[in-house]
Amino acid sequence: MSQIEILDSVKAYLQREHGQFIAGEASRASDTAKIDLIDPATEQPLAQVASASTAELDAAVASAKRAFKGEWAQKTPYERGQLINRFADLIEANGEELAQLETLCSGKSIHLSRMLEVQQSAQSLRYYAGWATKISGETLTPSFPSMQGERYSAMTRREPVGVVAGIIPWNFSVMIANWKIGAALATGCTIVLKPSEFTPLTLLRLAELAIEAGIPAGVINVLNGEGAIGQQLIEHPDVAKVSFTGSVPTGMKVGQTAMAANLTRCTLELGGKNAAALLADADIDRAVGGLLQTGYVHQGQVCAAPERVFVHRSRIDELTSKLAAGLSQAKIGSPLDESVMFGPISNKPQFDKVCHYLEQAKRESRIVCGGNALDRAGYFVEPTIVQASSASETLMREETFGPVISFMPYDDESELLGLINDSPFGLSASVWTNDLSKAMRMIPEIEAGTVWVNMHTFVDPSVPFGGLKSSGLGREFGSAFIEDYTELKSVMLCY
Ligand code: NAD
Repeated sequence: MSQIEILDSVKAYLQREHGQFIAGEASRASDTAKIDLIDPATEQPLAQVASASTAELDAAVASAKRAFKGEWAQKTPYERGQLINRFADLIEANGEELAQLETLCSGKSIHLSRMLEVQQSAQSLRYYAGWATKISGETLTPSFPSMQGERYSAMTRREPVGVVAGIIPWNFSVMIANWKIGAALATGCTIVLKPSEFTPLTLLRLAELAIEAGIPAGVINVLNGEGAIGQQLIEHPDVAKVSFTGSVPTGMKVGQTAMAANLTRCTLELGGKNAAALLADADIDRAVGGLLQTGYVHQGQVCAAPERVFVHRSRIDELTSKLAAGLSQAKIGSPLDESVMFGPISNKPQFDKVCHYLEQAKRESRIVCGGNALDRAGYFVEPTIVQASSASETLMREETFGPVISFMPYDDESELLGLINDSPFGLSASVWTNDLSKAMRMIPEIEAGTVWVNMHTFVDPSVPFGGLKSSGLGREFGSAFIEDYTELKSVMLCY
């Protein structure tokens, strides 16, 4: 057992009354519903958070608008970049507190909270900070002939869209929020965040750190509550853009609400049923390591994780038996124990959903290993390998978002592309082979926003990330985000 000690600052933070963060201050409506936050590893209550009232929602958007037109607009791009960097420094300096809070609320292993929610999220902010000084338009020469000898010149400007509504899921609350904060602040926008109702505490703490870093009040606001608060936020007339990350059904609703509200621009980062394809020559040991790392990490609650794996029939038994051996070594238990690899599923609705899919797999497919919930307190399930015999089985089609990977054999490489693309989702895919020319020929045919070769789920801020088909609209990262957070204004001059 190497259970870590909970910091006194975390214990004290849990004792506080939690509500919203508006105009640089914590606020808490007294007459709104309270949401109980439950530790998924113990099923014990952790804290409560008050849902935002309509008045608080209006106040949050008004404060974001004031900052957008006022103090934030006065900052030079260099100053914005410096402030984002200072914010990243404070996230690291308070990293253990943030990591523990996130692990308590989400059941994510403490290693993963430290690595992704703290370190990588600070690194992503620094990536965006670098962009603040590099956002520019073009100079253009108009092409029509002059009528009376006059001349024309033109330019485009990239102007921040305004107040952004950032709606966040529970699986990587801090990291995904920081992708949206970094993009908004680098381009000169302000943001109102709506965390998941399951994991609101870290974002409230993050907003305090932003003030400590010197980011003006109103630039980052946080509103808590269930989906209805998110919907009201999207419908607010002063929200200029929605950046949503979550499931496909909610994302579709969000897109429709945004369009109906005010033709509000909207980017959607949604779910997936991501395929990994192992060609006959694949390095199986490397693939086993890759699947252990990326398919089961955070109990499979990763949007880009491989959930459908197509393996050449000659290699499937070798792959699944080595993977099952790897999984049998992994310790399941408290996510605050540093020797544990598998913690609980993050919340009760998701636990019920995963259990439903495990029952479905028992009826339709063959369970190679795992397949059960653990008989103990907490939302624990065994990491599971399922062998499918048809691509029409439920676990080959629906996103489980759990520690369950379905493997299906194929015989002929010519069927592979059809199998990979036979899905309404298109978030990510991977090809495992030592034959680079085969991989290069497959890449343009694969319907996914990201294709990895001999790796899976490596998300880096310099590489655009987002989905095709029903997995989303728009991209985070790279330079692609600039288009989504800025308006393109054309200016023409006659001389
Ligand atoms: P979800 O869609 O249930 O909720 C996401 C957020 O939307 C929450 O904050 C929720 O309160 C809010 N919400 C719910 N109804 C709303 C409405 N009508 N209007 C506005 N907001 C509303 O998703 P989840 O269960 O929190 O997260 C898991 C899902 O997120 C999975 O499908 C996963 O694949 C996806 N995801 C995608 C990415 C990506 O980058 N593509 C990253 C992480 C998670």
